[in-house]
Parts: sequence; structure tokens; C-alpha cells
Amino acid sequence: MSSDDINHVLALQDPIVKSLVCTELQHGVLIPLKTTLEMGENHAIIRVVITRAPIKSASAAISLLRNLLPEEIVKSFPHLRRCAKPADLPAHLRAQFMNETPQSRQIHTGKSNWIYIIVGPESSVSQSEISRKLSTVEGMEEEVFMRTVPVPELPPTSQVQAAMWSQHFWPTVYRKNNPLGPHPSLISRSTDEIANDAVIWMTLAHQIAQRSKEEGCGEAIGACIVHRLNGKASIVALAADARWHKQQNPGRTGNPLAHAVLRAISMVAQKLVRAENAGKELRSPSGVEFDAFQDAPILADEQKVLDVDHPSPSGYLCHDLELYLTHEPCVMCSMAILHSRMGKVVFRHRMPLTGGLCAEARGHGHPQLAGADWGRGLGLFWRRELNWSLIAWEWESVGLLKPLLVNYEVHA
Ligand SMILES: [Zn+2]
Repeated sequence: MSSDDINHVLALQDPIVKSLVCTELQHGVLIPLKTTLEMGENHAIIRVVITRAPIKSASAAISLLRNLLPEEIVKSFPHLRRCAKPADLPAHLRAQFMNETPQSRQIHTGKSNWIYIIVGPESSVSQSEISRKLSTVEGMEEEVFMRTVPVPELPPTSQVQAAMWSQHFWPTVYRKNNPLGPHPSLISRSTDEIANDAVIWMTLAHQIAQRSKEEGCGEAIGACIVHRLNGKASIVALAADARWHKQQNPGRTGNPLAHAVLRAISMVAQKLVRAENAGKELRSPSGVEFDAFQDAPILADEQKVLDVDHPSPSGYLCHDLELYLTHEPCVMCSMAILHSRMGKVVFRHRMPLTGGLCAEARGHGHPQLAGADWGRGLGLFWRRELNWSLIAWEWESVGLLKPLLVNYEVHA
């Protein structure tokens, strides 16, 4: 995007946004984060038990297996073909099985009347019991064929990968989904949605961060929350880090409850409470006021944004809102983002030791941290065991927007 385009996009924003932006807008690029699954352990190989049956008895064998095994075992490999013709097996398996016995050779030559069937993961089926039961099926009385073969545990992420696995492991189906993270089409759609104006919100986060540092409030860390409906974005909250604000005895970390993300989320909450109480007479002017949180506006621009009403004060806390950050949030803030049901997160600087969103090994990309084992990145934006996920990007300034440096040990 050229600077003309950016200025055109700025011209379309609400007056308050135009009044807040006070530096020239710089270009930036959005880079989707990788999930923990995408980073590794993603193609775990496990062994499954397979058998084979005459085609005419295949359905009897399959229903027998279905009755014998729990449903989650029967359905545990939606990406693998349950039944495969001998000709469809990978070449090495064909060669191996074909040369075992004269009967095997027959099964694999000419027009075969046999079919291979996946029974289930080796670890969760009793081969002797299955074998005994299968020997009651017509055509399998003499010998129940049972072998184990390695297969990828999780589905493939592309057609090419499925084709490769079909050659190396077992006939595999690509179901056009990404089991390891957000679907590529969702990422590209979401990226398109925010690409034009992300630079504005990143700049506002940058500005408020700088101001907080200058005024001795906190670290140079800032957050901006945006609501988007039908392509129209409105600013909902703007907050800087305030960990040093009103701290007599700040220690090394200052006030952890005054991190930019927590303050910004709280400001969203304050707006929702305000909307709910609109027109009502209240004894206390504000619903929640805890000094520890320092979530009242401190900087003038924070106040300005807080004064504007929430464009859509319904739904749960930050449901589907967008959060723009100067720094990768700490683990506490990452969980707050998740719990508040944020929809999208963009941050600029990675926090290689303390950040909660990246999935790369800690210390990644920082030569001065190389060599030490800092552990795995948590990738908290997309984890199967958490019941909410969001899309997260790193934003790389390709313009002249100066980096906002904080010590890499800081929890943002
Ligand atoms: Zn934090």
C-alpha cells in the first residue's frame, strides 16, 4: 500500500481517530503466527492394525469390528481410507504382503477379490480378540491376516501431502481443513479484512506506548482495541502500560495488573457497563473501581477514547474485537485476551522469553539468546485444549516507524 492509499484510508475514519493520529502513517506487513501444532510434533506417526477380508465378506467384517470397538476408535482416522484395494496400497506394502505366502500372491495379482481394512490404533485394540472374532467371518476362517503399519496420526494439510502419504503410508484423503491451526482461507480472509487500516491502530498503540514511557507511567508498551462491522472499524479502547504509575515501591516488575492489555480490556468493560447503565441513576458514578488495576485513563488520549461510547455494546466482553499491540503480550495477558473472547490480535515486537502467543521455541530469532534452552513457546492464540481461539499476526513495519525497545525480560 502506498502512503497515498494509507492517507485515503485515514480520511475515511471517524473524526476521533483522525485527531489521534499525529505521526505519518507507515507501511506494515501482517504475518500470521504459527500454532504449536504447526511448529512441531504435528506429524506424529502411530501404528495401526490392519486386516484383510474377501470383498463379499467385507461388510460383515466391518460391522463386526464396529460392534467390537468403541466408536472413537472406529472413527479415529477420518483422513485414512478405512478400506483399501490391494492395488491402492503403497508399493512397499504391496511388495511386502504379496511375497509372504502363495495365497498373498494371489490376493495381489489379477483382479483381486480381497480388500484391506484398518482395524484401529495398535495401542487400543486387542489383536488376539479381534483375530478370534474375525475368524468367524466367511472366507477368513483359515487365517486372519493381521499386521501393523505406521500412519500419520493427524490429517494432512494439503492435497500434495495427502498424495505423498498415500504413497508412503496408507491411502489418505485431504478434507480441505487444517487440523493444525486456522484454515488458510480463514487466515487470508481475515488478513484482507484488516490489512488496509491495521497501520492506523498499530500507530495509535505505538503513540500511546511512547507517551507512557515519556511520562514515566510505564514501559513503552501500548494497546488499541477496535470494533469492526461491515468493513467499518471504530476504536473502542486505547491504553498504555502503566506498571510504574503510583508505585511507591515498584520492585522489578511494577504493578502487573496495569499491563496495557488488561487496562484496555477493562476500558471495554467500563464502556459496556456505562451503556447498560445509561439513563439509570447510580449512587456510585462507576461500577468498578479498584486502584490496583489502574484502569482509569491516565493519558489524555486514553481519556478521549474512553469518552466515546461503545459502537456495539452487546455480547460478551471483547467478543470478536480486534486488538493491536506494540509487543507480544505476556502469558497472563494472553489468557486475558483469550478469556475475553477477542477475535483477532496483531502485535509488533516479539517478546522472545516472556510472550504467550508465539509457538516457536523461546529465544527464537534472538542471536544473543541462542544456545540456552528457554523452553517451548506456548502459542496461546490457538490451542486445542483451550475452548477459544483467535487469529494472531505479527506486524512488521516496513516504513520508518521506530522500534519500541523494552528489555526482553519484561512481561508485556
Ligand atoms: Zn501482560
